[in-house]
Amino acid sequence: MDTTQWPDKALAALLESARQAALRSYSPYSGFRVGAALKLSSGEIVTGTNVENVSYGLTICAERAALVRAVSEFGPEIRIAAVAVANLNDAASPPCGACRQMLAEFMLAEAPVVFPAADGLQTLAFHELLPLAFEMKLK
Ligand code: ZN
Repeated sequence: MDTTQWPDKALAALLESARQAALRSYSPYSGFRVGAALKLSSGEIVTGTNVENVSYGLTICAERAALVRAVSEFGPEIRIAAVAVANLNDAASPPCGACRQMLAEFMLAEAPVVFPAADGLQTLAFHELLPLAFEMKLK
């Protein structure tokens, strides 16, 4: 996938949803304001923002906040067709490892993920973002 091109209109709209979610960030400790928007294969858009806690390790990222909300609202059969991440700090903000693994459970492999990288927006197919997701395969 060409990572230098700007996202198409649908991804641009999803990015705007992510940006709106980031405005609701609860980040009094880091000031790092992130929003995520998931487009489900059903067409629904579900957003989330990061929610920090004074016990730092309990903080949840925007992507996982959106994911748990999506499953809670639409059930465990959801499939995620696209993800957008926005950061109001103008900083690089690819989904962290924990979020990638959590998303893997519900992502379509070719689903685009757009996020702010060091040199602007970057779009990758999910399988490029997490090529070796953990899977439980019992023999
Ligand atoms: Zn994360």
